[in-house]
Amino acid sequence: MSKAEEYVSDRNNILKKEENMFLGSSLILNERERVLDNHILNLRSDDPTLSYQNSHDFIPKKHFFECRMNMVDTEIFNILRRLPKGHSLHTHLLAAASIDFIIANITYRDNVYGKLINDQFKLRFLKPDEATKDGWFSLEEKRKNDTNFDSWLKQQLSLIVQCPRESYPSLESVWEKFEGKFSAIYHLISYKPAFEDYYYQCLKELYEDNIMYGEFRATPLPFYDLDGGVYKAEDFFHTILEVEEKFKEDHYDFIGVRYIHSFNRGISLEDLRKELEDLLTMKEKFPKLIVGLDFEGFEEHGHTLLDFHEELINVREKLDFFFHAGETNWFGHTDCNLVDAVLMKSKRIGHGFALSRHPQLMNLVFENNIAIEHCPISNQVLLLNDDPRNHPIIPLLSKGFPVVICNDDPAVWGATGLSYDWYVTFLAMTPKKCGLKVLKQFALNSIRFSALDKDDKVKAMDVWSRRWVKFISEMIEEI
Ligand SMILES: [Zn+2]
Repeated sequence: MSKAEEYVSDRNNILKKEENMFLGSSLILNERERVLDNHILNLRSDDPTLSYQNSHDFIPKKHFFECRMNMVDTEIFNILRRLPKGHSLHTHLLAAASIDFIIANITYRDNVYGKLINDQFKLRFLKPDEATKDGWFSLEEKRKNDTNFDSWLKQQLSLIVQCPRESYPSLESVWEKFEGKFSAIYHLISYKPAFEDYYYQCLKELYEDNIMYGEFRATPLPFYDLDGGVYKAEDFFHTILEVEEKFKEDHYDFIGVRYIHSFNRGISLEDLRKELEDLLTMKEKFPKLIVGLDFEGFEEHGHTLLDFHEELINVREKLDFFFHAGETNWFGHTDCNLVDAVLMKSKRIGHGFALSRHPQLMNLVFENNIAIEHCPISNQVLLLNDDPRNHPIIPLLSKGFPVVICNDDPAVWGATGLSYDWYVTFLAMTPKKCGLKVLKQFALNSIRFSALDKDDKVKAMDVWSRRWVKFISEMIEEI
């Protein structure tokens, strides 16, 4: 071998070694899968927007609000939409069903009222006499005089704007608006009859995106109706289970849903102690549904996990942890929540955006098989990462870390299901030579790292495998 040949051989060896380290590289595809794999690789290499020369047209580089419709028009998106993606593991319940559904199907009902309270718009159901007395306006009346009301309403319920980079100049400003969106619909969705339809829609949007199971982060909503009904926290969980049963009657292969209790980071120590007791009581009543706990809200504000470590250590035998941690671009303070998430044996870590700057923690996450819940569109909209090609998950994917793709709060940015987040991850965060293997691995990871028990996981894998075989057959026929 000449020196030049030796050089090229060394070069190829390095690239081959790296290729073999990437997530999903150890999977072996069968003959039929390889046909689709080749097709996907061809799509990646033939697409003119996926080259340096045309990088200004590279879709995921644009802000999601500006490129959502471009994504939908691509063949790769179409494949991802139809691909059985397994499970959805990180979604906040109040942002799980699309805003268009809420506007068209819930706000057009009788007795829906709106009011600006301390600069925050809120919606709820009320009896007409109560509404007039407290200064709420009727949406029905408003729409008679204002034909643009629904577009104004959509702006109140989502973050979508024409020029996101100008409208949200800082992380603080976007988080303030973001948290207001939950406040706007909180009482609207807490109206029990509306919640039942809302929740059914949450499951439907998963199912239509070829997702067979979901885990929702939430707190029990304070249900009410206009007939004087009095509801307790356990009615919320009963309703969740009843709607799920109904959904399964209509969609026989849907696996189900699990609930992760999400305390607000601002909770006081005293309230946390009391609410943990309540949660343990609920866990005894709904042992399968309630799988664990988390803290939500802007990670720069409120308490750290360390503030609560004593209380959390005391319950960790009874409840699993699924902590948001390291959803920050700071180094040396907020990101240290990752230390506590790992030490407290969190089953998965929400975002873990700052993980790649902590080598010791990276080792522990890998050794302990803690999955990272990667939410790329959330990270872009909430200003942690602008161009997804620079996302810090990429070095973790390159080393084969257990990553699951999640959607966080899809309704707030006009997404449904997981396909959009899969699209961004696939095109912006995996190398050009990656095809079906990494996609299959993402689906398998979502099942493996879900909170389902052993038996349910076997069932879920069986459902997914059947759908996968069918998907491969259908795609091959169309190629
Ligand atoms: Zn989240």
